[in-house]
Amino acid sequence: MPDIHVSISSQIDVIRKEFGSNVLVLGHHYQRQEVLDHADATGDSLELARRAADETKATRIVFCGVRFMAESADILTNGQQTIYMPEPEAGCPMADMADVAQVQGACDALESASGGDWLPVVYVNSSAAIKALCGAWGGSTCTSSNADKVFEWVLSQGKRVFFLPDEHLGVNTACKLGIPDRDVVVFDPALDGGGLTATQIKEAKVVVWKGYCHVHTNFTAANVQTVRQKWPEAKIIVHPETPREVTALTDAQGSTSQIITYVAAAPEGSVVVIGTETNLVDRLAREHAGRITVRSLAQSICPNMYMTTEESLLEILQTWDGANEVHVHEEIAQDARAALQRMLSL
Ligand code: 13P
Ligand code: SF4
Repeated sequence: MPDIHVSISSQIDVIRKEFGSNVLVLGHHYQRQEVLDHADATGDSLELARRAADETKATRIVFCGVRFMAESADILTNGQQTIYMPEPEAGCPMADMADVAQVQGACDALESASGGDWLPVVYVNSSAAIKALCGAWGGSTCTSSNADKVFEWVLSQGKRVFFLPDEHLGVNTACKLGIPDRDVVVFDPALDGGGLTATQIKEAKVVVWKGYCHVHTNFTAANVQTVRQKWPEAKIIVHPETPREVTALTDAQGSTSQIITYVAAAPEGSVVVIGTETNLVDRLAREHAGRITVRSLAQSICPNMYMTTEESLLEILQTWDGANEVHVHEEIAQDARAALQRMLSL
């Protein structure tokens, strides 16, 4: 019996060789190991956006990740480059929690309540249309690794931040910057006017949208307490999409790349417990086995990230099927680009 895995992997290698530098494969840290083995570059959302923006040779970029990341790559690359997703249905449920009409309504409410003294900060985990709204209102995108910098950029102008769509990254970032809880309010799109009065908006420094990532809201304070009892010497780090009542109990928080750096710097013999997507935690455990112990705070898979397989990567490299291309309409791309470029320049 031929080894199917080896044959898929070697077929990918053969095609990659044929195309040479005309094809670039990008992979997010949450992808399966067998997919990342074929990536030219791996990274967190910010690094992959930068890598796509800096690419000059490849005319075909295969994005192994979720839709919002591939859309950002399309917006930041030139007209001669095409972005492909091996699994075009791989989305991000959190990104879908902010709908254009609702966000436009919220922006109008902020504008009338605060007389223009506000700016939107949109997490890259959002649709291109929401990024475009952000750009049109003069705001910036951010990722989990630079949200603090982008908040500071807004606050230093004496304006309040309207952050969307992740409540928890917004709350954790405000807390990191020393903003008291009383100055942070939650805009709930399911309620009339977000459930806020004009006075509440006017008095707030940060208004956060009530959205969440089901992968990271899976982590609980009880998970942290269990770890503290079992391995009191362990350091615990979580992704900032984790709710505040949990991050308040951990030793650190960081984006996927910041978690990787934290683990690499952990002293020999130590135990690091991580609260983020399982594929990344398992990889770090394998890579550091024998030097340190890496454990998961709780198993939590992102089914969308998990959709991409070696098989679907091979298929796109063989077919270059138009259905897998990612195109953001130039009308939307223009304003979305402004928001993304503002972030990249900060
Ligand atoms: P990073 O920006 O840390 O890579 O996170 C992206 C993401 O989707 C986390 O859930
Ligand atoms: Fe979206 Fe959460 Fe998956 Fe990240 S882990 S892509 S935020 S659903």
